[in-house]
Amino acid sequence: MPVMPEPIENLTLALERLPGIGPKTASRLTFFLLRAPEEVSLALAEALTALKSSTGLCEECFNITRSDQPKCEICVSDKRDEGMLCVVEEPLDVLALERTAGYFGRYHVLHGVLSPIEGIGPEDLKIRPLLERVHAGKVREIILATNPSMEGDATALYLQQQLAGSGVRITRLARGLPVGGDLEYADQNTLLRALAGRQDLS
Ligand SMILES: [Zn+2]
Repeated sequence: MPVMPEPIENLTLALERLPGIGPKTASRLTFFLLRAPEEVSLALAEALTALKSSTGLCEECFNITRSDQPKCEICVSDKRDEGMLCVVEEPLDVLALERTAGYFGRYHVLHGVLSPIEGIGPEDLKIRPLLERVHAGKVREIILATNPSMEGDATALYLQQQLAGSGVRITRLARGLPVGGDLEYADQNTLLRALAGRQDLS
């Protein structure tokens, strides 16, 4: 038997499923919302409902875009160099690189990394569309910006092999990023240095 009424239990359990939120934080958030003016929880509920229904993936780079816009803002911007593609694992990595305000090319989001242990192969990632973008001929340089982890390195190596002979300059973000770390947690200066010091693989 739950100690608290069901609506309280339901919200607490839903919040507990979020990363970084344990049972105590979940209860605290639930009771905060219970005490707060109704518009606070209504705004949250509306934002949550719209999160999935109003977003989609950019048909060009697979970054997140609004569902009524087939291409994301970066892909439609004429201020961004379409000859330069930065290949990242997740949309959050795009955010991290955009925060540096030092990158003016475009992106390609893989939506994961190769992982034989988890059974994730090339066909599970957005690799084929990347090769198609390269073969379309406008790309001059590809920056492999997967995380400096075992899977990130293996994915970069795989892409390097797939892109060999394409005539495109292939670079990898410089070391200096914490090994095993995530791009999304790197500070802006570290990321900027990694971008500036990127090394040729081809
Ligand atoms: Zn895009």
